[in-house]
Amino acid sequence: MERYDFTKALIAVGICLASAGAGFAEETEWSYDELRGPGHWAELTPENLACAEGMQQSPIDISGEVSARIPEITIDWKPVGGTMVNNGHTIQVNLPSGSTLRRGEDLYELLQFHFHTPSEHHVHGKVYPLEAHFVFKSSVSSSLGVLAVFFEPGERDDTFAQLAAAFPGQQGEDVNVADADPNGLLPDSLDYWLYEGSLTTPPCSEDVDWMIAKTPVEVDPKDIASFTALYPMNARPIKLPHRRFILSSF
Ligand SMILES: [Zn+2]
Repeated sequence: MERYDFTKALIAVGICLASAGAGFAEETEWSYDELRGPGHWAELTPENLACAEGMQQSPIDISGEVSARIPEITIDWKPVGGTMVNNGHTIQVNLPSGSTLRRGEDLYELLQFHFHTPSEHHVHGKVYPLEAHFVFKSSVSSSLGVLAVFFEPGERDDTFAQLAAAFPGQQGEDVNVADADPNGLLPDSLDYWLYEGSLTTPPCSEDVDWMIAKTPVEVDPKDIASFTALYPMNARPIKLPHRRFILSSF
């Protein structure tokens, strides 16, 4: 499968915003429903071919993982939020530049984060009620990186509660959340699983280093309900791993 170039990958990250701005009548507009849902994404435009034909698609069930000496993740995020938008597919927080994730020699810059319900990735068949995706671009290559964090019902998480209280209800609506610190959405441990996959939304480009945090974050069930009230289901079904390895940090 030919790799998508960097520009296309970046457009993919921004595609939600672009479509939100342009309205929802476009022929190529995708969704999670029967007519334009995951099983039809590749039919909507040739740009989405990888959604049907790709052999390195995401999400997947984490199973058969192999323990490996993979580099630790080091987070250096500015304690500031940005603009939170309801883009018609999810609630997404677009961030100012300057926040990074380092994994060995690899350095990534944080662009945005957003949510899926239920979780897109499964862990040995287990599904979580919510999954956050922190989307990065590599500072040196054409790759994107996504750090996935599972949320489960439990104690209130201050940052998520702050965001949930301000979720924009209308598609296309945005709010300033500069005082919401994304560090508050991270689990205690950054032990993770690593595999090569794709965007989980059109055009499903196969140029994503997936880092899946093993430790979930507890959030107030009320705050999960605030999300599912807006988006009851925005998770792509799991895809086959094919020949890929899933590596597990010690
Ligand atoms: Zn996502």
